[in-house]
Amino acid sequence: MLVTVDQDKCVSSGQCVLNAMEVFDQRDEDGVVELLIPEPGPEYAQKTRNAAAACPALAIHIEE
Ligand code: SF4
Repeated sequence: MLVTVDQDKCVSSGQCVLNAMEVFDQRDEDGVVELLIPEPGPEYAQKTRNAAAACPALAIHIEE
């Protein structure tokens, strides 16, 4: 699984962190998404998919 995020689209809602805190974080200053693990292992795969599905800005892209 390969994950990319578009920080220009992110609206700082935090849904990604709520769903997969191991994979995503938010910048302290403005809440914009930060990608912690670009290639999450199987143990984080479903959480990462949930995060992408929950993102209101469609800012998370996954290649399986
Ligand atoms: S869920 Fe989407 S819009 Fe919200 S912080 Fe994460 S990447 Fe940004």
